[in-house]
Amino acid sequence: MLDIPIVYDGTIAGVVCHEHVGSPRQWTSAEQDFSALIASDISLSLEIDRRKAIETNLEHQAQHDALTGLPNRSLLIDRIDQEIKHARRSGSLLAVLFLDLDNFKQINDSFGHLVGDALLVSISGKLKGVLREGDTVSRLGGDEFSIVLTDLEREEDIDEIANKILTVIQQPLTIEDRELFVTTSVGIGVFPEDGDTLEVLLRNADAAMYRAKERGRNGIEFYTEDMTVRALAKVTMIANLKRALVNDEFEVYYQAQYNIDDRELIGLEALVRWNHPELGLISPDQFLPAAEESGLIVALDRWVMRTALGQIQQWRAQEVPAPRVSLNLTMQQIDQEGFLEFLTELIEQTGCRKDAIGFEITEGQLMTNPERTIELLRVIHDLGIEIAIDDFGTGHSSLAYLKKFPVDTIKIDMEFITGLPFDEDDVSIVRTIIALARNMGIDVLAEGVETEAQFNFLLDAGCSLVQGYLLSRPQPASLVFAAAWPVVSQSSSAAESS
Ligand SMILES: [Mg+2]
Repeated sequence: MLDIPIVYDGTIAGVVCHEHVGSPRQWTSAEQDFSALIASDISLSLEIDRRKAIETNLEHQAQHDALTGLPNRSLLIDRIDQEIKHARRSGSLLAVLFLDLDNFKQINDSFGHLVGDALLVSISGKLKGVLREGDTVSRLGGDEFSIVLTDLEREEDIDEIANKILTVIQQPLTIEDRELFVTTSVGIGVFPEDGDTLEVLLRNADAAMYRAKERGRNGIEFYTEDMTVRALAKVTMIANLKRALVNDEFEVYYQAQYNIDDRELIGLEALVRWNHPELGLISPDQFLPAAEESGLIVALDRWVMRTALGQIQQWRAQEVPAPRVSLNLTMQQIDQEGFLEFLTELIEQTGCRKDAIGFEITEGQLMTNPERTIELLRVIHDLGIEIAIDDFGTGHSSLAYLKKFPVDTIKIDMEFITGLPFDEDDVSIVRTIIALARNMGIDVLAEGVETEAQFNFLLDAGCSLVQGYLLSRPQPASLVFAAAWPVVSQSSSAAESS
């Protein structure tokens, strides 16, 4: 027998074997050389295959996202150039969707990157499931995805697919035995009117996505030209906010909350205002979205807390009978490392009683990561601080969680108060929330009460805690007790007229 090893990648991958049948004899050197040649040819071709595989793999890696396996931006650009040419020839519509998950950072921060990564993989699977053949979904980086829809006839088709995406994303996900809730904001740019290259379409879809975030997230916006201006304004806004924090341009206003049964002032909500040196007073809906997105909200809310607690102590020193002051906080704040230390230190420094403050957290925030929320809020509630769910009715609570949150008050979102007492939907939603709260032994407060008709409806419906312009506007600290009391008599006249 003549055995010649096939060497490949430094090890013996096989053997070229010749066998002579009959009486034993020596192998000639020509026979040995021939065998060796075969062995080296085989190892060479194995090596070529290996390199090809590496090359293909590298090519794939260069064009795909390593985590989700989706096409990346460079492959997307390649593919879409072709699609744009096709759309131009055929006169069909093409839409570029820009998606940014609404609360990914919070999930990543509280559960770690492994859970965050698993979530992204699962989201990309969901997206692929919704799309038609020929549509391309790609991951642009972080929690940003892009989807290109081709061969569309009507804008309504785009809307329909975008809505399907919202629906499928907001269904809860289970990762490592945790139930996670995530939503997404979608901006849309349409070829040809919003741009004729992918870069322009993507940029405009991105600007539209920001608008969707500002409008309360979990929504869809089509691009319009004024959004480019707004996107620029946002960058300036963030820089201005940073400067404003340093220069102490913020001020805390207080809005009264009443019990209309007893005609009693029961609380003050601390609300931040921005006194811009040139632009004057800027309302929070103009700067809070940018503050939240940039993370500045943590520093800003801590400033509000410090100021409000200082104010409470000042009122106490002046023997002003101030009711509980409620502070609006984000879960990002509460889940921040060192928050409890900050809170307890602040309470100690100011000498403020724990029952002199309460926290308001929006329903949407609570539901981002309900299990974690329960854990964190229990600790705070055990300290003796009351907790209210803000903007209730807009944040997709599940009753199962609602029962577990250590909550003292539900604040009905202004959106449902506005239509009272004529809008039938609002009437039944508000009645249902009041009944729900009563059954759970939770107080219920109506926000944004602006007319006597709304006031009287609430009084009849048994919602005795109210807040709104009808009774009192937010006021600077110096005016709260100067101006609030006369307004109470306005509330009692409204109560009598019911
Ligand atoms: Mg609030």
